[in-house]
Amino acid sequence: MSRTLAEVAAEASTCTRCRLAESRTQVVFGVGNPDADLLFIGEAPGFHEDKQGEPFVGAAGQLLTQMLGGIGLRREDVYIANVLRCRPPGNRDPLPDEIESCTPWLIETISIVQPVVVVTLGNFATKFVLNTNRGITSMRGGVFGWHGRKVIPTFHPAAILHGGGEKSRQFVDLQDDFALIRATLDAAARPEPIGSPAAPPLLAATAQDEQLELF
Ligand code: SF4
Repeated sequence: MSRTLAEVAAEASTCTRCRLAESRTQVVFGVGNPDADLLFIGEAPGFHEDKQGEPFVGAAGQLLTQMLGGIGLRREDVYIANVLRCRPPGNRDPLPDEIESCTPWLIETISIVQPVVVVTLGNFATKFVLNTNRGITSMRGGVFGWHGRKVIPTFHPAAILHGGGEKSRQFVDLQDDFALIRATLDAAARPEPIGSPAAPPLLAATAQDEQLELF
């Protein structure tokens, strides 16, 4: 019998599988609706997330909430997680062994939430989930097949804020991507459960940039 997200989060709260356990304030497991159709994956907790124990709570989080509102969704309607659950010191990039150690938490999260659409926020999450070397600028605007789900890469909200905010070209792209998320959700049929005996291992052999037809 599979565990609940709360049970998994409780176990993860004391995780010491990688060195980030030594410098974190707390584990930032994830937040939102455990039965969400839409799941966001960012990179790792930042300063505010590490202090408050919730992903996307700073200015980038406010922008994400604003974008969700623009397509008729609230934060509590979706699930929000990161590739890493502990803050890397100084917000440095995650290291390969840290990702390997933390991946089981993400796999179990996705297996429980069973989202229809996964949105990867920024370069890091996109390269990790889709197993690609392509950058976010070339990946965004597309819909990619992934374990019977659809993955939509878009810019990380923090990158928008650092790159000129709502006056930037990237913000227009972000709006387009959220319109695509809404259209994809509306059109998607509910897929077979991830983790069923017939399903391939999650994240073990991801789609190789299999771009689907756009709507
Ligand atoms: S980053 Fe992930 S694997 Fe490392 S200590 Fe935190 S929860 Fe555990």
